Amino acid sequence: MTKTTTSLTTCPYCGVGCGVQATREEDGTISIKGDKSHPANFGRLCSKGSALADTIGLENRLLHPQVNGKQTSWDTALDAVSDGLKQVIEKHGPDAVAFYVSGQLLTEDYYVANKLMKGFIGSANIDTNSRLCMSSAVAGYKRAFGSDSVPCNYEDLEQADLIVIVGSNAAWCHPIVYQKIVKAKQQRPTLKVVVIDPRKTATCDIADLHLPLKPGTDATLFNGLLHYIKQQNTMDWEFVNQHTEGFAKALISAEKSATDITQVAQICELSDQDVSNFFQLFANIEKVVTLYSQGVNQSSSGTDKSNSIINCHLASGRIGKPGMGPFSITGQPNAMGGREVGALSNQLAAHMELDNPLHHNLVSRFWQTDNLASTAGAQAVDMFEDIANGKIKAIWVIATNPVVTLPNADKVRRAIETCDLVIVSECELNTGTVARADILLPALAWGEKCGTVTNSERRISHQRNFLPHPGEAEEDWWILSQVANRMGYGHAFSYQSSAEIFREHANLSGFENNGKRDFDISQLANISDKQYDELIPIQWPVTAGRPKGTERLFEDKHFFTSTGKAQFIAITPRPPVNATSAEYPLILNTGRVRDQWHTMTRTARSSRLNAHISEPIVQIHPIDADNCQLTNGGLARLDSQRGNMLARIVITEEQRIGSVFVPMHWNDFLASKGRVNALVNPVVDPISGQPESKHTPIKVKPYQPVWYGFMFSRTPLIPTDSEYWVKIKGNQFWRYELAGEALIDDPSRWAKNQLGEEGEWLEFSDQGAQRYRAGKIVDNKLNCIVFIASEHDLPARSWLSQLFSEQTLSDEMRMSLLAGKPGAGLPDIGPMVCACFGIGENTIKDAVECGSAKTVEEIGVLLKAGTNCGSCIPELKNLISSKSG
Ligand code: SF4
Repeated sequence: MTKTTTSLTTCPYCGVGCGVQATREEDGTISIKGDKSHPANFGRLCSKGSALADTIGLENRLLHPQVNGKQTSWDTALDAVSDGLKQVIEKHGPDAVAFYVSGQLLTEDYYVANKLMKGFIGSANIDTNSRLCMSSAVAGYKRAFGSDSVPCNYEDLEQADLIVIVGSNAAWCHPIVYQKIVKAKQQRPTLKVVVIDPRKTATCDIADLHLPLKPGTDATLFNGLLHYIKQQNTMDWEFVNQHTEGFAKALISAEKSATDITQVAQICELSDQDVSNFFQLFANIEKVVTLYSQGVNQSSSGTDKSNSIINCHLASGRIGKPGMGPFSITGQPNAMGGREVGALSNQLAAHMELDNPLHHNLVSRFWQTDNLASTAGAQAVDMFEDIANGKIKAIWVIATNPVVTLPNADKVRRAIETCDLVIVSECELNTGTVARADILLPALAWGEKCGTVTNSERRISHQRNFLPHPGEAEEDWWILSQVANRMGYGHAFSYQSSAEIFREHANLSGFENNGKRDFDISQLANISDKQYDELIPIQWPVTAGRPKGTERLFEDKHFFTSTGKAQFIAITPRPPVNATSAEYPLILNTGRVRDQWHTMTRTARSSRLNAHISEPIVQIHPIDADNCQLTNGGLARLDSQRGNMLARIVITEEQRIGSVFVPMHWNDFLASKGRVNALVNPVVDPISGQPESKHTPIKVKPYQPVWYGFMFSRTPLIPTDSEYWVKIKGNQFWRYELAGEALIDDPSRWAKNQLGEEGEWLEFSDQGAQRYRAGKIVDNKLNCIVFIASEHDLPARSWLSQLFSEQTLSDEMRMSLLAGKPGAGLPDIGPMVCACFGIGENTIKDAVECGSAKTVEEIGVLLKAGTNCGSCIPELKNLISSKSG
């Protein structure tokens, strides 16, 4: 009999890399808590991390290998993969095959994939979906420091006196890092926070200054700051003269891009005063961290933007010291691990360079191969372009879903459909990419697999398994090694464990290093299996001289350039590639929402995470909404030159005029037309190859179906006759938001066709008003609900959803259902605000209105809202101010 076991592992979502304590009870129940000993979070988890237990399960899991749609044995599937790859290579050469991998992979998986492709197949056609989130930051660091070195750590945020947050809604996207800043500011109110973002996001809740700059003008702002630092004589001349190069040229470019604060303000469409205030803060406060993310990186000039930030830190000498530095935070749990093993197509392993002959020689000798790739392979966007044009004939996609996440996603989908051989390693069955695979390889999921990940502050942590291997699912490194073996490279891929791979990776990092390369974990190269299992979180470099790891880089002012000096980069700001036009007048900005992760294959399993934002939305300013004749809560159609989608309209002054925001998450299994990347430009930064996901010209117009509706059902359905549908998992039901273009003549018949006739039907129909409401009772319990109307303004869903928890449906509840209004004892809690405790907007508003709670703290005491992860605190503050204002 199994007993209760507790494992320390790490969260599989964002790059904060929080430690998680997973407990498995004897009956198999899993409970999740934050790991109090983990330095990234000290026990705290955000809403997504807290809901991890909800996302575990075998529903929709890929559990057996398949070839051409038929379940088969591992041997047959692996033979099919190796034979398929070998045939393509023999006929068309190694560059006709490609691997597209993921920041979800563990470092050991990543290492083996990179070694197989670059070291033995002999092509560098391996790229990772991290290309989409942080490759501009990588390129920026490499230009400035000669290495992809994140200088800072989370403690620097607590020690800083000024934190500049650029292009990051950290409150939603890196919640635990944001909570560290909130706490630091509470403890030390003199800590200043400046948020630079076109949108007024939840992160602005703690901002002393918010600069809602014109999208794409960040480099002008930071060039202006560089100029200002020089003018105000707040330079660190000693540092600049002794440890950097290129300042004079960088200054000339900065002066050319804007002569003074007024011009900076004009270009960035900010007030002179706001720009001046920001410059004064930066110039005069010693301890400054600039925290930046996708708003900087996802741009056709993302690398330049990142160097414009780094330039200001170099000029003021604010790097390599406590509380200072340019700090890029990564989106994915192991984006950093991918960087370490060289899983970007222009890198070699262990932070070495493909085009550096010394590095090439070194890695060839270490891997004992004479077939190491020497030129860069295709980057993510180009890789799928090469599939479309037939240059790449076989693609192996591992742990990612490019038909949803890549720009120009419809074209990517068509490219995959025409590719000769599509191999997909996955744990999920329902992904758009899986649906188009020739060979499916079942991979282990979070909780089942075991290996290491590196978070945004270079901290390597162990992700441990606490669940049994389901079906025939296997470790990704095992699958890759088996294929390598069949391709004739068995001597280099005879791994028996992830520990063995980690030791090799650590060995390579130290191989002939002697302090020449930043990434060095050679002190871990000889750890035993037991020591590997027990590895505690540690920040690289980990060397003989620094056996306990390294908190902060560049404290010695030595950089990894040929001269040992940091490089200023002269930046000439460039506007986004595609400008708006009369036909496409609005800018589409994409990003994350608070409670969902990537393409929702995991987070959409959690009813509490689905309750915050349940549908694809488009956030738009009231003036733009007016111009486009949009109504709040209605539906909109969004079109770019590349594709279109449907989304629920949210009109908000938090959005900048001229720009709309749409989340990146929805896939084809959860929404009929919710893939925003179908619209996004496949334009990339010429240095980093990162797509410009935050700037696509689009048009928005009302989508006006003939009818709107929603259904609840205890079992999942396939809605028919609905051009717009969204599938939302709730507590004991599935909810479907619907809209259709053809009139429903007989709503009662239509409802029964969708939900099945059997059972007791309660129905209300007003044909004149075109309203239909119905519920179906089976064994005294509510089984289904259907509401249909000609307007979008249907009754709230929250109180209806509560009926599914009732053992029997009372007469009063039946009346409420048919009346479309909550009765006594059935409060409408409104849209979800606190996912952790299930507290809705109306409950909070009522508490504020009646005076029971006037502050966030009082709401916490009364309702518990905001007292767990804290992600909803900005929304609580908004509700308090709207009710008391
Ligand atoms: Fe996971 Fe949230 Fe921590 Fe990110 S902040 S690692 S999503 S718990």
